[in-house]
Amino acid sequence: MDIEEWEQRHAEAFYNAKEALPYLDGMFVAYNSNIDAIRHLTEEDLSKLVGFFDESDIQDRVAAYPREIAEPLDFVARLLISMREGKAAEVPAYTADIHEWLKEHLGFDYARMGGQAGIISNLLGRLGLKKVVAYVPWLSEEQAEYFTATGNILHPKVENGKVLLKPPGEAFKPGIGSKVNWILEYSKDMNVTCAGNTFKVPRDNRLIISSRPKWLRLDMDKQIYEQLDTLLPVDGAMLSGYQMIKEEYEDGSTYKDYVENSVKVIEKLKSLNPELRIHVELTSIQNRLIRKAILTEIVARHVHSLGLDTVEVANALNVLGHEELSYSVIRKGENGIMSLYQGAVQLMKDLDLERVHVHSLGFYICILAKGHPLTLKEHRDSLLFSSVLAAAQALNGNIENLAEAEAGLEVPVSSIGLEDLENFQLYCTGRKLCTPDEFEYGYVYGSEHDAILIPSKVVERPKATVGIGDTISAGAFVAMLAKIKQKHSGK
Ligand code: ADP
Repeated sequence: MDIEEWEQRHAEAFYNAKEALPYLDGMFVAYNSNIDAIRHLTEEDLSKLVGFFDESDIQDRVAAYPREIAEPLDFVARLLISMREGKAAEVPAYTADIHEWLKEHLGFDYARMGGQAGIISNLLGRLGLKKVVAYVPWLSEEQAEYFTATGNILHPKVENGKVLLKPPGEAFKPGIGSKVNWILEYSKDMNVTCAGNTFKVPRDNRLIISSRPKWLRLDMDKQIYEQLDTLLPVDGAMLSGYQMIKEEYEDGSTYKDYVENSVKVIEKLKSLNPELRIHVELTSIQNRLIRKAILTEIVARHVHSLGLDTVEVANALNVLGHEELSYSVIRKGENGIMSLYQGAVQLMKDLDLERVHVHSLGFYICILAKGHPLTLKEHRDSLLFSSVLAAAQALNGNIENLAEAEAGLEVPVSSIGLEDLENFQLYCTGRKLCTPDEFEYGYVYGSEHDAILIPSKVVERPKATVGIGDTISAGAFVAMLAKIKQKHSGK
């Protein structure tokens, strides 16, 4: 594979997507958004935090290994555990108490939009789409402030029994709390002392306190559901956040109720516009029962497209009964990319999808069911466009608008990604899945499915990496929809 050629293809794809995007009428994006409060910890912060408690109490709590943050001592214990190992951790908090405590005793450096639907809405808003209808069931006044003020992001609001689309700042639910996740970052080599023990932090990492207030429900207000046609016209929907669904709720409802309602929303969207395509963006889901229910009951048969990273491919395969394939995706090794490809194909078949887009550091794989509406070149353009967006985001920490996203073109295509793909080529051509010539283009024409493989642009020292996966999936999906619209218009 020729790296120069791939640079050229990226540039061409970016301009093609830019031309196609104005053909879109709009996108619907739901459900999850939150506020990320970020604090980079210093050694002084640490001694201050430890100083609030009796050191032997801290030691006892560390030994108890709390699985949730019920009080500040749980937080300090999990922070010390995470720092000692340099290992990322995410621990839930079911009340807002720790949020209040941290605001008062520590404070944050800055706050930003978090949650897949929040991140995707802002990205699409900044790419200049005509209309982005965001829907967050728990839109608080504070949360609404984190949507970008591009003017094209709207949110449904019920007024006198009628659903209207309004800017998020005019559509929030008065009086509800906010979901604030704390991200506590720490650096390698920090010295930490507690109860006479001192250790050095082995690597940069972070502890996340994930806020799970009891009132959080992945649901759609009845009136909005009933008047869903007010969202139109939209060409596609990007849905995420299903991981919030819990097995059981205090009011006696269960995950089954929420799964059923989620499917109803999807089916209603499709009935309102049969051309509308639906993408689900997956993230890690700890609970296996919920993971399986999301995949087999919400995604399978109902949605067209799925976006996920390699770990999620393995996790999904695991609950779908493909343990061996799942382990070989996780192990990576020499056959990693082959397993990843097979795994993505398996997901497409098991879940009856039109499209599965897997992003990895350095390359993306997209499996397409036969009968998909674009040429492989057009699908490839959509993926390459998303690679430019990912590069721009890693480079600058965010994307202000489509013109600024062009900066991603300056980022080189990953030579490691290219190498991975070259390994895969041997597998593909060896099994006659494609000819060497086709592979040069990144195309695999199969008898049961087609596929696109592209090397992607990777920023060596990224400014920020959070939400890049969402950017890749959203960028490629909207570019694909825009191309379909452009072709239909005959231009
Ligand atoms: P997140 O949920 O934070 O978006 P994911 O694991 O879903 O994380 O996605 C991360 C993706 O971002 C990777 O698969 C990779 O393709 C991309 N990525 C990560 N770091 C960089 C970087 N430095 N430059 C370009 N792309 C990156």
